[in-house]
Amino acid sequence: MPHHLKSHPPVSTKESTGPEHGLWSTGCTPVSDACINCWLTMMNKRFHRHTSSVSFNTRNLNLPLTVSKPSVFCIWSDLFHEKISIDSITSAFQIMLQCPHHIFLTLTKRPHRIKPSIDSLARSEIIDPSSPPPNIWLGTTIEHQKYMDRLDILIDSAPYFNKLLSLEPLLSPLSFNPDLLAQIQWIVVGAESGPRARPTSNEWIVSIINQAREVNVKVFVKQIHHNRKIHHNRKNKKPELLKSLKQFPPELRIRELPESFL
Ligand code: SF4
Repeated sequence: MPHHLKSHPPVSTKESTGPEHGLWSTGCTPVSDACINCWLTMMNKRFHRHTSSVSFNTRNLNLPLTVSKPSVFCIWSDLFHEKISIDSITSAFQIMLQCPHHIFLTLTKRPHRIKPSIDSLARSEIIDPSSPPPNIWLGTTIEHQKYMDRLDILIDSAPYFNKLLSLEPLLSPLSFNPDLLAQIQWIVVGAESGPRARPTSNEWIVSIINQAREVNVKVFVKQIHHNRKIHHNRKNKKPELLKSLKQFPPELRIRELPESFL
């Protein structure tokens, strides 16, 4: 994995507010089960910031323009939150378009807001939706089978964009429609970290890998739980998190990247 590919904004310049902030949006509100142990919420609480105060972070808007080294920007805080205006989302896309040397992974749990945003960009002739820039990836999180409709919404909203799925924290087995899964370019899957982590079965991840293999979608297994060893003392019942490939069982040692990352 290239060293610049991280789970949070990969820059640490003086202008950067650091990985605990969203690059372009500040604050968020929970939308589904994955949000229960949200890292952004925990960081905001630690630094006494108001998590539910959602705003577009104009101070950081131009930050990618100041980074000359090709980098991967992970827009994990939800740029498509209902409180971020279409005009602000448009500003973010304009910066992404000015930085073809960077890759932008834009992940949302609100994929229903992608289409209005792209329609607006198309009306303003900022983006041709049938020929989108290859450095802008759009993705959604599916942490549980009950959120599988996000896959349909993502594909309907952005059929020609590069698309990724984040299956993290994986909270249930997932069964994909293979025709829809084939329209995704990359899957990142992982177990939950943190003091209140909920368990992920390795069998669920193996099943996802097998489904992805059937339709030639690349898979990156980020982290897993040690399924056989749970701490049973009263103070620490959380699953043991494994991050190193060397710790993984052979069938889970898979960290594939899209070709454009290499
Ligand atoms: S959508 Fe993402 S950033 Fe927002 S609360 Fe949920 S996990 Fe946190």
